[in-house]
Amino acid sequence: VRGVVASDGVRAMMESALTARDRVGVQDFVLLENYTSEAAFIENLRKRFKENLIYTYIGSVLVSVNPYKDLEIYTKNHMERYRGVNFYEVSPHIYAVADNSYRSMRTEGKDQCILISGESGAGKTEASKKILQYYAVTCPASEQVQTVKDRLLQSNPVLEAFGNAKTLRNDNSSRFGKYMDIQFDFKGAPVGGHIINYLLEKSRVVHQNHGERNFHIFYQLIEGGEEDLLRHLGLERNPQQYQYLIKGNCPKVSSINDRSDWKVVRKALTVIGFSENEVEELLNIIASVLHLGNVQYGGEDSHACITSDIQIKYLPRVTLVLSVFACLHLSLTFLSLCVFHLQLMSPLNLEQASSARDALAKAVYGRTFTWLVNKINASLTYTVYTRTHTVDNVFSSFEQFCINYCNEKLQQLFIELTLKSEQDEYEAEGITWEPVQYFNNKIICDLVEEKFKGIISILDEECLRPGDASDLTFLEKLEDTVGGHAHFVTHKLADAKTRKVMGRDEFRLLHYAGEVNYNVNGFLDKNNDLLFRNLKEVMCMSENKILTQCFNREELSDKKRPDTAATQFKASLAKLMEILMSKEPSYVRCIKPNDSKQSGRFDEVLIRHQVKYLGLMENLRVRRAGFAYRRRYEVFLQRYKSLCPGTWPNWDGKLSDGVSTLVKHLGYKPEEYKMGRSKIFIRFPKTLFATEDALETR
Ligand code: ADP
Repeated sequence: VRGVVASDGVRAMMESALTARDRVGVQDFVLLENYTSEAAFIENLRKRFKENLIYTYIGSVLVSVNPYKDLEIYTKNHMERYRGVNFYEVSPHIYAVADNSYRSMRTEGKDQCILISGESGAGKTEASKKILQYYAVTCPASEQVQTVKDRLLQSNPVLEAFGNAKTLRNDNSSRFGKYMDIQFDFKGAPVGGHIINYLLEKSRVVHQNHGERNFHIFYQLIEGGEEDLLRHLGLERNPQQYQYLIKGNCPKVSSINDRSDWKVVRKALTVIGFSENEVEELLNIIASVLHLGNVQYGGEDSHACITSDIQIKYLPRVTLVLSVFACLHLSLTFLSLCVFHLQLMSPLNLEQASSARDALAKAVYGRTFTWLVNKINASLTYTVYTRTHTVDNVFSSFEQFCINYCNEKLQQLFIELTLKSEQDEYEAEGITWEPVQYFNNKIICDLVEEKFKGIISILDEECLRPGDASDLTFLEKLEDTVGGHAHFVTHKLADAKTRKVMGRDEFRLLHYAGEVNYNVNGFLDKNNDLLFRNLKEVMCMSENKILTQCFNREELSDKKRPDTAATQFKASLAKLMEILMSKEPSYVRCIKPNDSKQSGRFDEVLIRHQVKYLGLMENLRVRRAGFAYRRRYEVFLQRYKSLCPGTWPNWDGKLSDGVSTLVKHLGYKPEEYKMGRSKIFIRFPKTLFATEDALETR
């Protein structure tokens, strides 16, 4: 009788486990029976998403689907649940990744990085904030450490105010790349931080597409700024008054409360350590950018002048807050040239004058942003890497080209570190194994960045060429040089079908993530990123201390042409790759479930596309075929030798024999591991975790 009860019990347990699995799917894609099927993969994501289980693993890679609603999974209790616990013991979570990274740093003494990728609105910024909050709560702290923690946390709202904006895809889209570094001391307490910013989308300061906004700070200041402050800055409490804020026709966003955000940002500036003076000067700059935008030109086409009522109304405000006085007026309508040591003033036409004004606004804002990041860095004396960047394929221009190039590089790094290196290693170690096919996007990286014949080189060449160089001659040069490349198409080179969806001023790149058309308009100007010399001079004369740090006289005396924007970006990406390669990576792959920012909507077509371009199926195949952990024989033996009388205190023979003796004693089954030339390969994480546990409970 008992036997019957028992087996019924077991069956009931199995059934409930089965139905649970049917309902919520598997928490690690590695456990999917049909692991090569994309349909099964998506079905698993869908089941979990329905149950608000937004996290799933592929081995140690975390896949996250944006829920677009607040879930009760980020409480202090949750943090505690993940603290110091092995991956497989708890359900998948961003905290598990944060904790694992932290513990690897502490036990193995190796720098770690967490790479978060996905398209705009997929949840990268939120993920990085969750990681920061996790460390802020769980890491040991002293009073001094508390200050660093506070500043690290408070740097987010400030950076978001100045570097994020509402786009069609994301109400809080980061318009710059960010890499954040946290340094821990020997006790594992966060003692410092460092942020590197990449390529702020400066063009947003002067222009926004329909349905989008300028950077949040402008609206926060106007909506939330105290009466006295606005009066002092000469601002009206109405964003519609400012040319730089009305292009997108979208002053209010239902998910954003500019007024309360202002309070948060204002307080954060103080916590980070900005003095009252500095805040005032910073806000002066923000206000003067708005006033500058209202400087409109009239007069003849060939000689622009600032219309008189505007001269009275707005220009004094710009000059007053920037303390640059009359020279600005002149510089906004004349170009000063130096010909044979003679200083000449040449009038600007209407178009030139407007673009001089916009160039000044962009330069002032862009440099102030960099100043702000540096200032935050200085306050974080000593610094997990998170990198969040944005892909919007809707309005593809120069900035988008740079951002997509960055994504291409990050994908390359992912391939190098997970797919390629994994397979190379099996080969080197003589482990039998079925190779997995994957697409290597190096060919696209080369197309963009190769010396002399890559797109950036060709762009630079056109920027430096005197004479008739234009965006269109750049396009022609591209056709001549890379026209035959399998990942490059233009209208002229395209087949009839593609030609229908391409303009004559566009080129198309076949990115690993899909096809993107880039309009060449503005490529040369943006790459040159030039600001007239006389405008720079005027800025150097400003009494605003922030501006004098942003525009210094040394730059004026430097005769060498500054590097172009694309070349600077290429160099900073190369540096980033170097930093990332020197660390042990963890991956978070973010997926956006729909384009309407709605909770509960699972748009299968959109998701399948992301699964494809994030390379998740390839990732899973490699993972299934492979081994979760590997350790060099000497490292493995050194760490665990005390668990086996045969290897303790020392093993004198061949290292591989020592490791064999040890793992046999520990009861490893033959299917759980393989012995390579210099390393042991362990198939499942739980085997190694059990060994770790044995060490702790010994
Ligand atoms: P990205 O940085 O990838 O462009 P964000 O991190 O800014 O995207 O996410 C966009 C929006 O989606 C956020 O403002 C937030 O409303 C929502 N979101 C993202 N991740 C989460 C999450 N884990 N929980 C709840 N909402 C989220």
